[in-house]
Amino acid sequence: MSFLLNPIPVVDVFDEGYVDCDACGERLTDECVPDGCGGFFCVPCLKELLKEWEVEARQYAAENCRITRALPEYDPDLEFRPSPEDYAAGDREAYTPNAHMAKCRHEFTNYDELIRNLDRDSMEDQVAYEAIVTRINALLIEAEPV
Ligand SMILES: [Zn+2]
Repeated sequence: MSFLLNPIPVVDVFDEGYVDCDACGERLTDECVPDGCGGFFCVPCLKELLKEWEVEARQYAAENCRITRALPEYDPDLEFRPSPEDYAAGDREAYTPNAHMAKCRHEFTNYDELIRNLDRDSMEDQVAYEAIVTRINALLIEAEPV
């Protein structure tokens, strides 16, 4: 997983023209990187934090993601996709391996429960989200009847 760090000019956020990195305390006067939930960091610190968050998120996902009920089997004979006309008319229902996977994620795992309280703006929560989706998908693929 890689995140694009998006440094912004300090003067755009802080009228006084400086901010101290929330991790190392270094005074930043040129650029800083917001973490999306109130923190501002220098680039090296946020890179380090992302690595730490990723390790924690993977561990959390490994310990908490689970399939909550018996998975329905995917039946390739039933596969269908909406026609471009259906799609344009708002009828987007499909039965494909991807659609099946998405349905299983929502209805047969604790995915929704795990992501419910994540904050989309927070970089740390985005890392958590990625780890949860990746883990849940891996569980579904492993559990798929052969
Ligand atoms: Zn720093």
